[in-house]
Amino acid sequence: MRDTPTPMDPRGLPHVTPPAIRLFNTMTMQKELLQPAIPGEVGVYVCGPTVYSYIHIGNARTFTSFDVVVRYLRHRGLKVRYVRNFTDVDDKIIKAAAETGEAPVELAARYVEIFREDTRALHLLEPDFSPRVSDHLPEIIAIIQKLVDKGHAYASQGDVYFSVSSDEDYAKLSKRNLDELCVGERVQPGEQKREPLDFALWKAAKPGEPAWESPWGPGRPGWHIECSAMSAKYLGETFDIHGGALDLIFPHHENEIAQSESANGVTFARYWMHCGFLDLEGAKMSKSLGNVVRLRDALTKVDPEALRFFFLATHYRHPLSFSDKALADAETRMEYFYETLRKVDERISGKDFGKGPLHGDPQRFFTEFESAMDDDFNTAGGLGSLSGLFGMMNELTDKPPVKDKALVGRTLHALREDVRRVSSVLGLFEDAPDAWLLRRRERAVRERGIDVAEVERLLGERTAARAAKDFAAADRVRSELKEKGVEIMDTPAGTTWKVAPLQG
Ligand SMILES: [Zn+2]
Repeated sequence: MRDTPTPMDPRGLPHVTPPAIRLFNTMTMQKELLQPAIPGEVGVYVCGPTVYSYIHIGNARTFTSFDVVVRYLRHRGLKVRYVRNFTDVDDKIIKAAAETGEAPVELAARYVEIFREDTRALHLLEPDFSPRVSDHLPEIIAIIQKLVDKGHAYASQGDVYFSVSSDEDYAKLSKRNLDELCVGERVQPGEQKREPLDFALWKAAKPGEPAWESPWGPGRPGWHIECSAMSAKYLGETFDIHGGALDLIFPHHENEIAQSESANGVTFARYWMHCGFLDLEGAKMSKSLGNVVRLRDALTKVDPEALRFFFLATHYRHPLSFSDKALADAETRMEYFYETLRKVDERISGKDFGKGPLHGDPQRFFTEFESAMDDDFNTAGGLGSLSGLFGMMNELTDKPPVKDKALVGRTLHALREDVRRVSSVLGLFEDAPDAWLLRRRERAVRERGIDVAEVERLLGERTAARAAKDFAAADRVRSELKEKGVEIMDTPAGTTWKVAPLQG
């Protein structure tokens, strides 16, 4: 368990009251107050990737949403135990391995590393535990045995199936009706199950596939059972929050509940959270349509924090539409934030403005941010309060409404500290402003084919013209640069330039 220090506010006051965080529980379809089973501690389990390929930006959105949930719970002083699994035994992995000629476990291990690299690039925190199926066969076999012993599962020619009719409240999460579910379902030729809705807990070994010994003969686990076995191992038979993408509700999460509650006789997850879909300019992303955008490819085009900003600017439960334009807009917004921070840092860093009152009520933005986040992790609302915070920073640096420089300095300092606190929750503004802005410029220069040497030469000409008080010539250079898509800014620290946003 990670040790989270009690968060302090800038006035040195610890949070003394337990946080009142409400979240939408898919099980009850209502917002509920989060009341962890053990006060002050929260167990979180998120269904992780099946590691047979690169993850796409829809997966990235889901994992970013839960990354922020975990960060925020910790910010609020809760001890979080965060588990996200790797499905490294699966039909898709076996199929992909047959194509590349690798052993399935090798291919899966390779994509685990790729997943780690890609998610690290997106500033996702590493979970406390990342269990893999291939390391948990004893736990998986034990829970299947328990289900067989209790009459909830049956062996059939080397397979083991869960008997859906043995579970009275099956489908309570998706609220589906069993009769409807049965329509069109048939036991397929070659399947050894009794009823069409029964699902495999264990699959008998087929030639050339990875297999483990079991009481039912050699084979491998079905997909759903791993999450029941691994969540119980790391979080207990009952834990607080179970999360995943919306399309996992049926059948995956439904089957997890059926397995765990039938085996253990207690409530499985106390709160269910599901992240909405991401589509591609209105069309569903799918491998068969060939319109899947990999996270890795998206990150060559856009800054990771801009991608996070794009995800977080919409509430996690709402659908989100991905497009190049939306990404470009997110990056322009991040550029505005970082330009503001650069200006503020130039003004206040290394200076002591003494103790004393602040101008206006700068703390209100952070209070608003927390209120939004307390309301079902509303990052969209939280980012809205940041607009006010950055607006106040700009006003205080560009045209301060008061003359008292120490007062302005202290207020800017307080606002900058609040940005740091937001940063640790959202995973934004983690970079030094200069470094971020330079990277953004380099990417834009490459995309637009701008000749940097030519820009530097013209800037030198303009500096010389200004020194000679030839302002007409200086303005001509500015216009010439503007035509090339370059915007120049004169600051107290000297002249800088950036690539102007594309019009339209
Ligand atoms: Zn799962």
